[in-house]
Amino acid sequence: MGLIQASRGTRDILPDEVAYWQQIEATARDLLHRAAYRELRTPIFEQTDLFERGIGEATDVVGKEMYTFLDRGDRSVTLRPEGTAGAVRAYIEHKLHAQGGVQRLWYVGPMFRYERPQAGRQRQFHQLGVEAIGSADPRADVEAIALAADILRAVGIQDWTLSLNSIGTKADRQHYRDALVAYLQPYANELDADSKDRLTRNPLRILDSKDEKTLAIAKGAPSILDYLSAPSSAHFERVRDLLQRLKIPFAIDPCLVRGLDYYTHTAFEFKVDALGAQSTVCGGGRYDGLISELGGPDTPAVGWAIGLERLVLTMQQQSESLPAGADIYCAARGADAEAQALEIAQRLRQAGLAVEVDLSGSAFGKQLKRADRSGAPLSLILGEEEAVNATVQLKWLASGEQATLRQFELFEQISLLQEKIMLSKPAKRI
Ligand code: ATP
Ligand code: MG
Repeated sequence: MGLIQASRGTRDILPDEVAYWQQIEATARDLLHRAAYRELRTPIFEQTDLFERGIGEATDVVGKEMYTFLDRGDRSVTLRPEGTAGAVRAYIEHKLHAQGGVQRLWYVGPMFRYERPQAGRQRQFHQLGVEAIGSADPRADVEAIALAADILRAVGIQDWTLSLNSIGTKADRQHYRDALVAYLQPYANELDADSKDRLTRNPLRILDSKDEKTLAIAKGAPSILDYLSAPSSAHFERVRDLLQRLKIPFAIDPCLVRGLDYYTHTAFEFKVDALGAQSTVCGGGRYDGLISELGGPDTPAVGWAIGLERLVLTMQQQSESLPAGADIYCAARGADAEAQALEIAQRLRQAGLAVEVDLSGSAFGKQLKRADRSGAPLSLILGEEEAVNATVQLKWLASGEQATLRQFELFEQISLLQEKIMLSKPAKRI
């Protein structure tokens, strides 16, 4: 019988790597809370219609990438390929608009797209995203962008670039679309197969093709920015002005159109060099058309999603390993000493310290080697002698400094110990 492995395009996140995920999640949760965003949890699968209507049938996501199946009741359901459609469905279904004001929502969780797996591209991947629903003000766009920038910085990613564009309103795009098709038509036979197909169905998407020849042709295309109406131009100008005030550097990219149909006005992407082809860690924009498209009241909104796998890959490439593991490693040998060690560990944990107990019963030499490897700054050692005298040996693993204390003294000195342990751990970046 062959061994069963994780399905293609999925992977296990093992404990060594989880430290990065936890750091991202804790950082994001804190920053989002400070910006008045509240968490929303929606189901992993939804009715297929939601994504067909909310993302658009002409997009790659709906056209090629969805995990769609009939359930046992013959209903067509789809594993969510992104978070916005579900968040908007929940917003409408629970009439969150009735609460008035702006609903600032965030989510994190697995998404599913049937893609060719490669570094930074999986079939089950994870996104952290925000949606600010209920404001048409350019400040909402900039607040959301600033939040993404802050999260990237807070997890140690400094060298991102922000690409920015405006794709105007649906009407602006209609004008632009005609001009674009007129420009591209003569090159029709030189475009890659996908783009040729898009010429009639979704010509704007040709601009963000990944095919080099197509890209070269797209470079000469008319710019959408020349087709914006006056109010659309004003919106975009305000966004740029506010970003400058917040000292968030950006570059205008008129070819940035994003994959999804419901976007209006501002579109943006954060990229990092470290990732090669899969360089986009965060994509987002304004989607004023989506809520009414899905049957809700006409409501403007803006949001983004960060791809967490790509963020973790970048962190792993950029930074030293994260501080992980216990504060104290507890080595003991002999039945009495082992029992006392267990008790001491429990009391130290109750006082807030992280304590790993060696359960091997092997020679002290071996236990102390494991203590060294564990990364804990301090080791406690209890042998027969310590058990009889109710003492404990302390060994600071970095300096080798050693001391013997009465066990009750150890408990009296817990806050001192905590301070010394904190000082001997690598500084946290946040
Ligand atoms: P790409 O052009 O790389 O396919 P996309 O435009 O399809 O990206 P979005 O739908 O905007 O991506 O999703 C937002 C972010 O989610 C992306 O910038 C990326 O970081 C991440 N992401 C998207 N698809 C995947 C995937 N299959 N595996 C891992 N991360 C992904
Ligand atoms: Mg994609």
